[in-house]
Amino acid sequence: MKLKFYGARGSTPVYLPENAGYGCNSMCAALSFEDYCLVFDCGTGASPLRREEAGRAARLDLLISHLHIDHIVGLPALADAPGAVSLYTVSRDERPLPEQVFGVFKPPYWPVSFAEAFGARVCEVFPNTPFFLKNGEIKATPFRLPHPDFTTGFRIECGGKVLVYMSDCEMAGERTPEEAFGADLIIFDAAYSPEDYEKFRGYGHSTYEDAARVKRESGCKRMLLAHFDQAYSDREMDGFAERLRAIDENIELAREMGTWEI
Ligand SMILES: [Zn+2]
Ligand SMILES: [Zn+2]
Repeated sequence: MKLKFYGARGSTPVYLPENAGYGCNSMCAALSFEDYCLVFDCGTGASPLRREEAGRAARLDLLISHLHIDHIVGLPALADAPGAVSLYTVSRDERPLPEQVFGVFKPPYWPVSFAEAFGARVCEVFPNTPFFLKNGEIKATPFRLPHPDFTTGFRIECGGKVLVYMSDCEMAGERTPEEAFGADLIIFDAAYSPEDYEKFRGYGHSTYEDAARVKRESGCKRMLLAHFDQAYSDREMDGFAERLRAIDENIELAREMGTWEI
């Protein structure tokens, strides 16, 4: 399986030459298989995704961790994707799920009412209840993670490999979820350096030190860190990568447009 990151940052994109190496777009990663694409979150990275894999896949399934704007703002970029699009997420409140997902894409926040134009199938999923994708070849298990208004992680099992997606989670002092155990690869939130985390405690994010603990406790083989704060330049990110190598050489930092084989 090939994993590609189209956006590895959090919050609002800031493009500057000094951060171009790790990229500026917000979270969007895709597992691609010939004419099928499984997408994790739909931040502004959905625009480059649309230019590449979403432009040729016959089917796109989107797993949405939660509805913070940096994880859904790229949905309009997929409105004219040629393939059939389905979106899977956990309900947050009593409103119909399409209204929760597309609520900001209508006047006065968006020029047109976008939900109808998009035509995606919106499917509710439930924590700790597996569901199947790609004609049963992919088993996906959602699970809850600590974040303001909670996030959903996804454990993906396919062809004997396990990928676990854990964006937007504040794991300081939290137990490592069972769903992360034994993964081949975990995608994990490392928004802040351990020093900067103190300023942002309660914002719902982790550090690369939390990542190293979760990796150790889960027994996962490799970890890929993402959702980096926009404030970090490439030089600072390279510094984090160097500190990480001393802790665990199987933890890497994701880069926009970077690919990994699972
Ligand atoms: Zn986020
Ligand atoms: Zn969030």
